[in-house]
Amino acid sequence: MKELIDKLASERDLSDKEFLLLLDIEDKDDLEYLYSRARKKREKVYGKDVFIRGLIEFTNYCRNGCYYCGINCKNRDADRYRLSEEEILSCVKEGYRLGFRTFVLQGGEDPYFDDEKMIGIIKMIKNEAPDCAVTLSIGERSEESYKAFFEAGADRYLLRHETASPEHYGKLHPENMSWDNRMNCLKTLRKIGYQVGCGMMVGSPYQTKEDLLSDLRFISSFHPDMCGIGPFIPHKDTVFRDMPAGSTDMTLKLLSIIRLIHPDILLPSTTALGTVSARGREMGLLAGANVVMPNLSPVSVREKYSLYDNKICTESEAAECIGCLRRRIESVGYEICVDRGDHRDIDV
Ligand code: SAH
Repeated sequence: MKELIDKLASERDLSDKEFLLLLDIEDKDDLEYLYSRARKKREKVYGKDVFIRGLIEFTNYCRNGCYYCGINCKNRDADRYRLSEEEILSCVKEGYRLGFRTFVLQGGEDPYFDDEKMIGIIKMIKNEAPDCAVTLSIGERSEESYKAFFEAGADRYLLRHETASPEHYGKLHPENMSWDNRMNCLKTLRKIGYQVGCGMMVGSPYQTKEDLLSDLRFISSFHPDMCGIGPFIPHKDTVFRDMPAGSTDMTLKLLSIIRLIHPDILLPSTTALGTVSARGREMGLLAGANVVMPNLSPVSVREKYSLYDNKICTESEAAECIGCLRRRIESVGYEICVDRGDHRDIDV
């Protein structure tokens, strides 16, 4: 197995059969070898730096009915909220004070936040903190809207592809949602000039190893600037409530494999990983991840932005959260970097 891992590290590609063998690794030594190769690559490009992104979950209204997501439009038990511009601004001010130089505006697909409102919010943040990057994560919009947000100052866009298999996509989403449209959105975002992030859940219902292989092939050819990988976690008010959560090991394996395919990629160690495993985020960093995205949303709404059950960090204020995270990051030999943390185009 070690030869195969070395081959991936030097050639950045494998045959389908070989990738599937890596996804099947269970031996502890082989796993540790995979993680350590990924860690070394990450350190060649980004050293010991961990980039932090301040996540502002500004609305949990959503027009979509994704079967896995706790804030999907069918969930009548979701307690809906929207942050005001003043609330968003105060998250940004507090985040800036704490060392954040990237703010991620994430939300459901909420028609209330039309282009005009989004442009106002983007400009407001850029005006308050011109040295910061603004990342949007607000789902599928038209090319015109994406262009307008980019012109208003948005730098990056996170839109997980969710699954590179159209058949699998159909099992996770209602019929009115389209895999083609989501994939086209990613291409459009790239064309406009955004730094783009795709990604998928690990262990989402009905996902096969072949689906994960398609994800790897897509990530390999699309070469996103970022890639969000986290385990699926069931939410009690969704049709997937009784489905098992994705595994920590499979998530870590994928992080390492993706790091070896694209040494320069920005790879978050996700909150979902920290939810399925107590030291999940630390393990993610040790498997090749180099970004963490702590929550800056007001504590009063944290519980309400409930994509999945038992989400961590819903009770502590931003300052407390970043203190805890700093200790966790330092416990595995890395350090928080106060910087926009842009994608580095370095060949190693
Ligand atoms: N509305 C935006 C943001 C979605 S929330 C959009 O469409 O892009 C961000 C990500 O959370 C989703 O892309 C999905 O991959 C993940 N997510 C949603 N429900 C989840 C669950 N039950 N378990 C784990 N991750 C989940």
